[in-house]
This record gives sequence, structure tokens and C-alpha cells, in this order.
Amino acid sequence: MPRTTMPVTGVHADGTACTHQVNQRTGRPKDSNSDCPGRTGYGATCSACGETVTNYLKLLVTPEVTKHLRQHTSTAPQAEPTGEAK
Ligand SMILES: [Zn+2]
Ligand SMILES: [Zn+2]
Repeated sequence: MPRTTMPVTGVHADGTACTHQVNQRTGRPKDSNSDCPGRTGYGATCSACGETVTNYLKLLVTPEVTKHLRQHTSTAPQAEPTGEAK
């Protein structure tokens, strides 16, 4: 089974990936000739289950990604906990 990855990329308002060079502060494209509508946030899609995490701050996406990936890496058979661990 391939390694599960969840790279964080910039996203536009319509949810498409933003791979343009943008101003970190404003999210506006650095190249005024690019077809970038402006970066509105960051998102990551899990290569294993396709779940996506998005937020307007990369800072807030990263811990969600880490948490999500942990779910996939901690699937080693262990004693089943009874009931919902909440
Ligand atoms: Zn863009
Ligand atoms: Zn996943």
C-alpha cells in the first residue's frame, strides 16, 4: 500500500488548487498577467480516503492534516476500545 500523503496547497474561492505565486499577505497574484483569481485559503486532500481539509490559514490546516494522517498510520490491530472514546 502506498504511503498516505496529504500535501497542503493554496486554494481559490471556488476550491480549485492555487499554484500561482501570490503575495503572502494579501493572497493576490504577484504576476498581474496570471489567471489567478486570488488565493483565499489552503487545502489538503488525503491520498488514501480523499477527505479534504480547508481553512483560510495554512497554520490551521497543518494540524488537521497531521491529525488525519495519524488515523491512517495508527491502524495497527490493537485491543478494540469499547464504546465511543469521547
Ligand atoms: Zn491562484
Ligand atoms: Zn484519509
